[in-house]
Amino acid sequence: MIPGEFTYHRPSSVAEAVAILASHGDEARPLSGGHSLIPMMKLRMAAPEHLVDLGGIADLKGIAEDGDTITVGAMTTQHELIGSDLLGARLPIIRETSLLIADPQIRYLGTLGGNVANGDPGNDMPALMQCLNAAYVLTGPDGAREVAAREFYEAAYFTALAPDEILTAVKIPVPPTGHGYAYEKLKRKVGDYATAAAAVVLTLSGGSVSTCSVALTNVADTPLYAEEAGSILTGSTLDADTVKRAVAAAEAITDPASDGRGPAEYRIKMAGIMLERALARAADRARG
Ligand code: FAD
Repeated sequence: MIPGEFTYHRPSSVAEAVAILASHGDEARPLSGGHSLIPMMKLRMAAPEHLVDLGGIADLKGIAEDGDTITVGAMTTQHELIGSDLLGARLPIIRETSLLIADPQIRYLGTLGGNVANGDPGNDMPALMQCLNAAYVLTGPDGAREVAAREFYEAAYFTALAPDEILTAVKIPVPPTGHGYAYEKLKRKVGDYATAAAAVVLTLSGGSVSTCSVALTNVADTPLYAEEAGSILTGSTLDADTVKRAVAAAEAITDPASDGRGPAEYRIKMAGIMLERALARAADRARG
C-alpha cells in the first residue's frame, strides 16, 4: 500500500527537531531508520502529517564510554552496534541481540533509538535494555530528562515519551568484567520477530550467583523485567530446583496473545525454555 500524504522535515539539530515536533503535536512523528514506521504508514496504521527525519543530526550518532557507562546515540544503527569493538569487549550481549534482529538490510538502517522508542513488544532491544538497567535520555522543549528502561513502557505503542520529545541517547551501565550473558530468541524463521525471547546478565562468585537480571521479549504488551526471577536466582548455585522456581516466576508475569506465532500457552512455555537456555549459556560464559 501507499502511505498517506505528509510533509517531510530534515532538521540539523536536536533543538530544531524538537521545535518542529512541538509545533505540530500529535500530527508529527520522528523518523529514524523507518523500518517500523514506514511499514505502519503503508498499512495506514499510522498517518502522521509531518515526518521529522533525524538522519541529518550528527549529535545523535556514536558510541562513547565514560567510566562504567556506555552512551549510545539514538541514530546508531543495529549494523554499527554489531561492528563496535567497544561494545564487543564491554557489552557483548548487544552484538548477540542485534544479530538476531531482522536481516542485514534492515540492520543497516534500523536504529537503537527507533527500536527502543517504538513501543512494539516484538522489538528485541527494549527487554535487553531493561535487563542491563539502561536509561533513555529524552529531550524536549524544556531540556533533557532520563527515564529508566524498566519504567518506560506503558502498553503496546504507549511509552513515557511525550509527543514533543526525542529519545536522543541510551545510557548503559557496564556489567563487571567476567559477567555472563545470553540473549535466547525463538523465531519461526530468519528475520522474524520473537515467539518468545529472554535476556540474562549475571555474575558468579565462588560458584554462586552474585547478581542476576532477567527480561523477556514479546510475551506481553510490553517488554518484561522479571525482577522476581532474578531475585530467586541470586545467591543460588543455579541448581535445578531454583532454576525451575525462577522459570515459573518469569512465566507467571507473561501474558502473550495467541497469534500466528502460536497459542498463548505455547508462548508462555517457550519464554520459560528461552530463560532456561539463557541462564545455562550465561553461567557457562561467566565460568569462562
Ligand atoms: P523508525 O521506524 O524510524 O521509528 C519507529 C518508531 O519510533 C516511530 O514511531 C518513530 O516516530 C519513533 N522514533 C524513532 N526514533 C525515535 C527517536 N529517536 N525518538 C523518539 N521517537 C523515535 N525489530 C526487532 O527488534 N526484532 C526483529 O526481529 C525485527 N524484525 C523485523 C523484520 C522486518 C521485516 C522489519 C521490516 C523490521 C523488523 N524489526 C525488528 C524492526 C526494526 O528493527 C526497526 O528498524 C526498529 O524497530 C525501528 O527502528 P527504526 O530506526 O527503523 O525506527
